[in-house]
Amino acid sequence: MQRLRRLCVDSFVGRITVDTDALRHNAATFRGMTQAKICAVVKANGYGHGLVPASRAFVAAGVDYLGVAQLEEALELRQHIPGVPILTWIFDPSANLEEAVQSGLDISVGAPWALDRLLTAAQHCASPARLHIEVDTGMSRGGFAPEMLLEVAHRIAKAERDGIVDVIGLWSHLARADEPDSGETERQLDRFETATRALRDVGVHPRLRHLANTAGTLWHPRTHLDMVRPGIGLYGISPEPAVATAQDLGLQPAMTLSSRIIAVREVPAGTGISYGHTETAADALALGTVPLGYADGIPRAASSRGPVMVNGHRSRIMGRVCMDQVVIALPKGATIGDEVVFFGSEGPTVDEWADAAGTIGYEITTRLGRHVPRHYRGTVGL
Ligand SMILES: *Cc1c(COP(=O)(O)O)cnc(C)c1O
Repeated sequence: MQRLRRLCVDSFVGRITVDTDALRHNAATFRGMTQAKICAVVKANGYGHGLVPASRAFVAAGVDYLGVAQLEEALELRQHIPGVPILTWIFDPSANLEEAVQSGLDISVGAPWALDRLLTAAQHCASPARLHIEVDTGMSRGGFAPEMLLEVAHRIAKAERDGIVDVIGLWSHLARADEPDSGETERQLDRFETATRALRDVGVHPRLRHLANTAGTLWHPRTHLDMVRPGIGLYGISPEPAVATAQDLGLQPAMTLSSRIIAVREVPAGTGISYGHTETAADALALGTVPLGYADGIPRAASSRGPVMVNGHRSRIMGRVCMDQVVIALPKGATIGDEVVFFGSEGPTVDEWADAAGTIGYEITTRLGRHVPRHYRGTVGL
């Protein structure tokens, strides 16, 4: 079984290479940007880069906290990374919160049902639950509405006096930090201060107040507070390239996606290419087949646009992206077995792919299949 799995992975004809030195460089760059603690966000399998290796690289660079959305990811991470606090903020009413409390996770609660569950679970645990209170200051997604805060604040204050919870944090999430002039971030910060006062009035004093994602960290220093929670920037991708590219920000892309040419053909002008013949060869042309497709995470929306690099030459996808393959225009001399770089530190950028697919860089790296093998290079011990 083990042998079979290894064979499959080693012979898979696409690969993700992650440069752990770039991850570490980016974390160090954020370290130099703020006095606040840093919670490195490693949700969604470390934005596709690998949960545990990415976390190790960030910890090596001196981040203070790790943050994942799903409780399941937090439990997995806890087993591999001891000694660093782990914050988690998504679970449903069926979650085993006793296990979460006993594992020492920092657990966020942003709805009355979640507070009920956490208090019940914590009563059965030897040590208090490490609680972060989420307040909605403008995302309309998670967190207690400010009007609801007073009522829950009393319950939390009592639970803390009873030794059931330890209130570690108060936090919220920014909706428009990537638009530096929208004014919304300042309004959110005001609402956050109001929420802070409401809690203090009933004797709840969170030690870590945190609000900023990457864009907040970069473009709104007043949101740094006690801790920042950068995600995308740590992977060397800008949250909004129209404001500043990764290069402008001194961030290094960490992920390279590559594959190899497995078929070549010369076609005359007028030849239809891939499903639907949505594109035909304008001139006589060499085509190459590359075995990565939408089932691997190549966006079909990038049909006839997605950029690639072959032997140092830029080219692009021709016609529709298929489930497991794409067809590309071949530069002169390219042949079977040559490497095709979809994006990476050399080659097209994640942002070019996001443009080609009408999406954001976040979606390009996170949608890559877990089955695509990840290889790591760099000096951070994994
Ligand atoms: C994803 C996420 C972040 C990080 O956002 P980036 O834009 O990737 O920096 C921070 N906090 C929370 C709650 C998130 O869900």
